[in-house]
Amino acid sequence: MNAGGDHAVDEPREKCGVVGVSLAGRDAARPLYYALYALQHRGQESAGIVTHDGFQQHSHVERGLVGDAFKPGDLESLAGSTGIGHVRYPTAGSLDKSCAQPFSVSFKSGSLGLSHNGNLVNADEVREELAAAGHAFTSDGDTEVIAHDLARNLLEEDLVRAVKHTMNRIHGSYSLAITHDDTVLGVRDPMGNRPLCLGELDDGYVLASESAAIDTLDGELVRDVRPGELVVLEPDGSGYDTYQLVDADSTAHCFFEHVYFARPDSVIDDELVYEVRRELGRKLWEESGVESDVVMPVPDSGRAFASGYADAAAETTADGDPRPEGDDVIEFAEGLMKNRYVGRTFIMPTQDERERAVRLKLNPIRSTVEGKSVTIIDDSIVRGTTSTQLVELVREAGAEEVHLRIGAPPIVAPCYFGIDMATREELIASDKSTEEIRDRIEADSLSYLSIDAVAEALDSSRADLCLGCVTGEYPFDVEGEATDRPVESPSTDAPAADD
Ligand code: AMP
Repeated sequence: MNAGGDHAVDEPREKCGVVGVSLAGRDAARPLYYALYALQHRGQESAGIVTHDGFQQHSHVERGLVGDAFKPGDLESLAGSTGIGHVRYPTAGSLDKSCAQPFSVSFKSGSLGLSHNGNLVNADEVREELAAAGHAFTSDGDTEVIAHDLARNLLEEDLVRAVKHTMNRIHGSYSLAITHDDTVLGVRDPMGNRPLCLGELDDGYVLASESAAIDTLDGELVRDVRPGELVVLEPDGSGYDTYQLVDADSTAHCFFEHVYFARPDSVIDDELVYEVRRELGRKLWEESGVESDVVMPVPDSGRAFASGYADAAAETTADGDPRPEGDDVIEFAEGLMKNRYVGRTFIMPTQDERERAVRLKLNPIRSTVEGKSVTIIDDSIVRGTTSTQLVELVREAGAEEVHLRIGAPPIVAPCYFGIDMATREELIASDKSTEEIRDRIEADSLSYLSIDAVAEALDSSRADLCLGCVTGEYPFDVEGEATDRPVESPSTDAPAADD
């Protein structure tokens, strides 16, 4: 499936959640299942678990939400105290069950299970090379390519070297949870594009896309897995080893994880997502605040941004001066109610259905908006469907002015590395200026956040972030697209254990 309309990366975009656990004497299936629930927002198309009981591998992978994919009894059949899990995001054209994960297979070198979040840029090339060497593929996904490359390396070398050589062969974005027999591994690509963290439980260790999964298991976040690092969990849950296998000159953390994708209660790359979003909201006020009667979030994505925006608005005026005593403070209100039972508008196949879905999903509270000037805060504008509908809805409910403030820069280009952003042609900001967009969505004013403000809120330099969707320049070599840094082959130094 094609990620960006007419573009070169044609593997499915894997916007997913991964988890792995290794426990002392307790079955892993149930903790994995709970962790997948905690990661459900990262993927709703399929869910799966692979465990290993010391003798053999067990697998259950099904379409649907976690709660639907596992029926009573399924977890009991997944024996073993080590295992991995996966939730997969729906992307058009990738509804094939062969792409559901974890991918599992048995080779001469042992059994392997793989959960992958991210997207490789050279999967076709590696697949062709492996196919020429006799490897048979059952799916067109890039995860199977990683599994086969690793299996081939494992025939000749130990686990750590095998992983290192696979990391040197594959390019792109990957956070992986892997089982090799009863050993669980976590691997993060050299630029750390997608998140992956390590947690400690009373009786073992866990690797997960987001720390919220560790909290769910009543564990403690140890730290993020470092870019280019391999973490190997002891099969008996007693500890872990880490190996810094590949070093890159810079990182390419996805800023959009913090803006939209990750749970606000997760800590990613040392930053609590909720606090980052509040800080983005504060900066939004500082850069483009507009004095209005009411500020209200688009639930749920705009909530933390709006609370930061309102806090900053209580301290300073839109001109940046300290707010005088007794000045009218902008009221922070919930002016839009969300119907929790409507899925993401995003996955509606036609524009007409997407528009209808916004009205199904969000309804204004008349008393909050009637006769007032209203500022609506959301995290992002993708196609522009949500904002266009919202401005109309809020006006219909009696608002006198409707201003829109967005907690991210304009999204001008597709994502090839894990976030389903729509094609370039569908992105409203790909060929329109902010003023043209404002005119299209019929808002009284519209402002986005600057890229520099995003970098500051993330306490990072621009060079260490993946900003592809807001600059059109990518940290990985995507055919037909520009890159924002020199893409070199990762180093091939010998592996070194650091604990
Ligand atoms: P749109 O209506 O296409 O402009 O999409 C904007 C809305 O979708 C915002 O409310 C965002 O919170 C949400 N959104 C942003 N990125 C994504 C994504 N990758 N998948 C699903 N929803 C998204």
